[in-house]
Parts: sequence; structure tokens; C-alpha cells
Amino acid sequence: MAIVNFGSINIDKVYRVSHFPAAGETLLVDGYSVGLGGKGANQSIAMARAGADVRHIGAIGTDGLWTKQRLSDEGIDTDGIAVLENEATGHAVIEVDPSAENKILVLSGANAALTQDQIDTAVGAMGADDWLLFQNETNLTEAIAAAGKAKGVRIAYSAAPFIADKVVPLLDMVDMICVNHLEAATLAEGYGGDMDAIPVSRLLVTYGARGAEYRDDGHVEFVPSFKVDAVDTTGAGDTFLGSFLAAISKDAPGQHALLQASAAAALQVSRHGAADAIPTADDVHKFLF
Ligand code: ADP
Repeated sequence: MAIVNFGSINIDKVYRVSHFPAAGETLLVDGYSVGLGGKGANQSIAMARAGADVRHIGAIGTDGLWTKQRLSDEGIDTDGIAVLENEATGHAVIEVDPSAENKILVLSGANAALTQDQIDTAVGAMGADDWLLFQNETNLTEAIAAAGKAKGVRIAYSAAPFIADKVVPLLDMVDMICVNHLEAATLAEGYGGDMDAIPVSRLLVTYGARGAEYRDDGHVEFVPSFKVDAVDTTGAGDTFLGSFLAAISKDAPGQHALLQASAAAALQVSRHGAADAIPTADDVHKFLF
């Protein structure tokens, strides 16, 4: 079974800073690198490296052809990635401080130019056992969810960046919501602060260095994070979700999926970079056993 990911593709420009500049301050940076990023691309790579069969659906500009090649080199099916003449590839400006905290600016660019045709073609080709995944970094999120629901496939929604007005109307169309604890708390506010009252059957919540929690029809499982030397947490949540969904899509039990994902994310935060830092299934196996 495949995972069809409607996802953002960004060029990540990463700046190492001694501290985050205040308003009006100009700061010389300590280092600079360029890599592949975007929640969608990160999650596709995390799923592929965890052993899943991944199809990525998205859009880039001609300035980002290498990003499509990079995804293809990971074994990801990239036939559904449109190359647009009149759009720039999405990009992110990421500042990382010495404590591994980050601040991120994102230009959507081509990520905001997905078409209904792309959705219809990709969802039309899905099998009944496939999973559909999407995030909030592309346009047409409601159309993506609606197409998946009409097709009857299982849908996971990485509801970030979190905008309550955008997320809440989609809850009854999806099978699983994946958020960090800050997003979960904001979402729960609309339901009297009670996470159990959020109307979705499966809820995955990550708590940074503390751990992660999976609620499946009222059954709650928690896994603590592995203790590692974190140097860059950019993409930790994407790595966690990608690894988790790869396991769940192969019908692994929740506890097993949580453990795999926790190990993958721990390895990822102990390396610099987002997509480049995501470990393979082999790395995760060696870390765990
Ligand atoms: P997001 O990046 O979406 O905010 P989190 O910060 O909650 O997500 O991190 C996602 C997962 O990454 C956590 O549940 C945990 O497994 C792992 N993780 C994050 N930070 C650390 C850390 N300092 N040490 C070990 N694991 C971490």
C-alpha cells in the first residue's frame, strides 16, 4: 500500500546565529547552508527512509528542479510534482541558535499553486488500502480532504502550520490528526480544553523532548523521547510523523509505531539540517537494538 502525500517542497536556507536578532538589530551569522525542506518534502523523505511506498504530489518552479530530483533519488514517485514556469519554488529562511531552537519564515511560492486536476488524478489512482497525507503548507487543503473522503481512503492530516479556522472544518473528513502539543492545546480550546473531545478518531501529539502520545478511539499510548544531544530540531515533528505513518500504513500497532518514530526523531535532532538529517530504517534499527 502506498502513501500519497500532497505536500509542500521548499528550499531551506539555514543560518546559524549566536542569538535571534531583536527588532531593528542587524546580525552577522555564524554559518549558512542550503537544503531541501518543506513539511511535505520532509515527511515524504521520512516515510520513504522508513520503508514506505511514497507518491509525492506538489508544485515547484524551474528554480527548484533539483528538489524534485532529490525526492526521486529517495525512491519517491515524483510524477505528480508539477514544474511551473511562472512560480518560484517555495523557500524557508531558518535561523538556528546555539540551543538548537529555531525561527522560520516561509514563502509559499509554487506550493500555493496546486490544481484540482492534480488532486483528481492522484486520488483517482489510489487504492482502497492507501493512505492520503496532507499539511497546511499547500493550497486546496479542503479539496484534497474532500477528494480523499469521496474515494474512501484513509486520511492523515498534519495540521500545521496551525490555523484553527482552517483545521476545524476538516476534522470530520480525516481519520488522523498529527500536531505538536502547542497546536493540540489550541485545538482542544474549542472543545473545553479536553483533547478527548476533539472529534477525530486518531490523534498524534508530539511533546518535543518529553515524548509523544497517540490516541486511537479513546485508547491513549505515550512514548518518552530518547535522551540525545539535540543540535537542530528543525523537521523533528515531520520526521516523527513520517516514520509513524510509514509504520501505521503497514498495520503496525500504535506502540511499535511510536517507538520507531521516537527513535527516528531522536536521531534526526542530533544532526544538523531538516530533510538531510532524517535517518534510514537501518539507522533506526541500529539505534534501537
Ligand atoms: P515539532 O517539530 O512539530 O514542534 P516536536 O518538537 O514535538 O515537534 O518534536 C517531535 C518529536 O521529535 C518529539 O515527539 C520527539 O520524539 C522528538 N524530539 C524533539 N526534540 C527532541 C529532543 N530534544 N530530544 C529527543 N527527541 C526529540
